[in-house]
Amino acid sequence: MAEEKGKKRVNYASAWQEARALMWAHRGTLAIGLALVLVNRVVGFVMPLSPKFLGDTIIDQNRPDLLLPMAVVAGLAVLVQSVTSFTLAKMVSVAAQRAIAQMREEIQQHVIRLPVSYFDSTKSGILISRIMNDPEGIRNLIGTGLVQLVGGVITAVLALAILLALHWPLTLATLGFMGVFSFVLARAMKQLRPVFRKRGEITAEVTGRLGETLGGVRLVKTYVAEDREQRVFAEGVTRLFRNIASTITGTSAVTAVSTLVGGGVGVLILIVGGRAILEGTWKITDLFTFVMIVAWMITPMVQLASVGTQITEALAGLDRVRELRNTATEDDEDEQREPIGDVEGEVVFENVTFEYEPDVTVLHDVSFHSPAGTTTALVGPSGSGKSTLIGLVMAFQRPRQGRVLVDGRDLAGLRLRDYRRQLGVVMQDNFLFDGTIRDNIMFSKPAASDEEVRTAGRIAHCDEFVNRFEKGYDTIVGERGVKLSGGQRQRVAIARAILADPRVLVLDEATSSLDSESEALIQDGLRTLRRGRTTFVIAHRLSTIQSADQILVLNDGRIVERGRHHELLAQNGLYRRLYEKQQGLVRDLFINPGEDPVPELEDDSRAAAARVAARTGQRL
Ligand code: ADP
Ligand code: MG
Repeated sequence: MAEEKGKKRVNYASAWQEARALMWAHRGTLAIGLALVLVNRVVGFVMPLSPKFLGDTIIDQNRPDLLLPMAVVAGLAVLVQSVTSFTLAKMVSVAAQRAIAQMREEIQQHVIRLPVSYFDSTKSGILISRIMNDPEGIRNLIGTGLVQLVGGVITAVLALAILLALHWPLTLATLGFMGVFSFVLARAMKQLRPVFRKRGEITAEVTGRLGETLGGVRLVKTYVAEDREQRVFAEGVTRLFRNIASTITGTSAVTAVSTLVGGGVGVLILIVGGRAILEGTWKITDLFTFVMIVAWMITPMVQLASVGTQITEALAGLDRVRELRNTATEDDEDEQREPIGDVEGEVVFENVTFEYEPDVTVLHDVSFHSPAGTTTALVGPSGSGKSTLIGLVMAFQRPRQGRVLVDGRDLAGLRLRDYRRQLGVVMQDNFLFDGTIRDNIMFSKPAASDEEVRTAGRIAHCDEFVNRFEKGYDTIVGERGVKLSGGQRQRVAIARAILADPRVLVLDEATSSLDSESEALIQDGLRTLRRGRTTFVIAHRLSTIQSADQILVLNDGRIVERGRHHELLAQNGLYRRLYEKQQGLVRDLFINPGEDPVPELEDDSRAAAARVAARTGQRL
């Protein structure tokens, strides 16, 4: 089986280890299940053996008194069989479902704690499949699969013993047919296994893409991409169909072969058995019993074959899950790290170098000092590393070289959960969960009182729009907050950050201009939020930049200039060029006359900007 490059083979050995651990954990249920299946299969032989008893003993030896007891025994056997079958299914299947639920919980719990970089490189559809689909497989291990396997073996052994006693050469011949059948089956399964494995992947991919299409439906419609998305989906669904179709073909072929084998065995029994009867070595009841037992044996044999596939699939799923679980979470080392109480919020970068991919350095030797409570503005062309730097502040990434210090302590050695509790964030595209406005504000502090939520909402100027809604703070925002405007979402995010009361704050100013009213309200909310907190802001507004305690100008992953607005303008470097370009292209972004009038400047462009500001002030 040549696998695609970069794709790992299923490691059955370790998956099997996992399976064993799982079975051991459920050994009680499994033991009862196996005992039940044993009883079930043994009593199962009473019925097919009864006719022989009827013929040989009751009729031939003329014992009519045994007829009723035999009927009672046969009836009881059927009763026991039916009760054990039901109990078996109920007990073992329910236990398996419980185990599935438990495993899903465990995987989700692990996945949510993986570092951000893992999510950057793994499709969410794949992760959803790992959490939701792969655990299903264990149903076959600790559920009906294993029990069926054992039941099948018991039946086969018992049946074999009876058949050998009846006619050993015929039994061996029958076994020969079965051997051919097993060989065909094994070959078929070898072909089918990778196809089954692929099915999970295709499903995850198609589901993931479908989620993106539906989530990004506005974009799809804007660019009239319905046809394209339809084609992508159709292609995925077709691939899934082909996969399923080929497995159906495969399994039907196996069924067809099994029918043929059954027929072959039947013909053989007729010839050999018929001759034995003619020669007087067999009674007609022997033939009858032989046929019954063989028929009795064939079903579990076929089941055994499919159990094999099911277990293989289950092991493949377990292997994927194991691989995921072996990926270190952010929490794994947290126990050894130093706990931290409330921090002051002094942040220092010491010669920080960072790369996402080997040899593609994104930040080069970045050093700066942000005293507690100050604002550091990041400016630079897109792709210069601003978001990356912020990711390092939030400990989403770790430096490859150098250190990030918080209150003089290396962030790498500090307990991540403690540190993140002191973080607040307001991004351009603020993520809202489908819930009420209150839920979304409280996300940062689930224990907040109603009063606290309202206060945060007031400071962030959410009141202005929330009060217009009939249900106020209990208004549902829709998936990702689609029922709110961009400016409203921004204000909810500010309220959320205010409620968190963070020591270190990360802001990504919106580049798109909002209407002047929400713009002014947002600026006001952010100003309150920033007060007294160490703030890192990817700045686009002149007002923010001017009020920053230091500006770091990034270019190509390096800090090329640093200082305050006037100092940087005077340097006549990149900052000045960026600033002038900004002035020329999108004046609106830099000018916010509502709060920070652009000061009189000697340089022409600034003066021009001020004039534009005065003229367009109302519009903004
Ligand atoms: P900015 O925010 O200044 O626009 P970024 O920090 O987002 O810049 O990106 C800096 C560089 O890092 C870019 O070249 C970008 O392609 C790269 N980059 C950003 N995120 C990732 C990622 N998750 N994996 C690989 N490369 C990335
Ligand atoms: Mg960015």
